Amino acid sequence: MGILEVKDVGKRFGGLQALGDVNLSVKENTVHAIIGPNGAGKSTLLNCLVGKLIPDTGSVMFDGQSVLGRSPHEINQMGISRVFQTPEIFGDLSVMENMMIPCFAKRDGSFRMRAIENTMREKDVVEKAEAMLVDMNMADKRHMNAASMSRGDKRRLEIGMCLAQEPRLLLLDEPTAGMARADTNNTIDLLKQISDERDITIAIIEHDMHVVFSLAQRITVLAQGTPLVEDNPENIKGHPKVREAYLGE
Ligand code: ADP
Ligand code: MG
Repeated sequence: MGILEVKDVGKRFGGLQALGDVNLSVKENTVHAIIGPNGAGKSTLLNCLVGKLIPDTGSVMFDGQSVLGRSPHEINQMGISRVFQTPEIFGDLSVMENMMIPCFAKRDGSFRMRAIENTMREKDVVEKAEAMLVDMNMADKRHMNAASMSRGDKRRLEIGMCLAQEPRLLLLDEPTAGMARADTNNTIDLLKQISDERDITIAIIEHDMHVVFSLAQRITVLAQGTPLVEDNPENIKGHPKVREAYLGE
């Protein structure tokens, strides 16, 4: 049994079957990539896992508990954290202030923006945020305005903010989209480090095959809303159906 078990999940938008009978098992403490052409249903699947969409059919179990019918907040509390396609940070706050938000929310179960000044005086939250910034190799940037950072550093901060929630499953939707090669490589190194050092499972949707093959132990190929094949990277690389459907050969 995987930490995440998706069984026969289907999702329809009007006349369009975006997902049809998706089965997926993600093993604990692995990096599992989901690849597939544009419109294959990757983001729709992710949205079904975090409560943003409710599948029409099937089940989604996380650590033996159903996530279906729970709100995104409840699912987050269960231990699933998600990194979006575009970085979701507060541009007008400093790096440190950004990092304090999930640290505060983790402690109290929620966070209200107006509490930020009071939060700055709460030692345990400050200490945790500082430790997270050290872990993310961002301590020297703590006073920087978050908006002024490079795309790679914004992504690094956002991933750190997710980790501060202490998730057991980290979901990423194309975390390197639109990044220059150097930032992409930094992101690969960061995710490798996280996967090596933490007790965490990572499921990543990714277009960039360099990223996929650098990180994933398992790969699921989605095509037209259905898993085409699931295998290890070596077999995926040589799979004729994958080359045809995904690499356009
Ligand atoms: P991917 O992330 O693999 O590129 P998506 O999951 O975003 O694919 O989309 C799968 C299909 O579902 C596409 O045809 C897309 O246009 C459609 N789709 C996605 N979200 C919606 C929505 N909210 N309403 C209608 N159609 C949608
Ligand atoms: Mg997508």
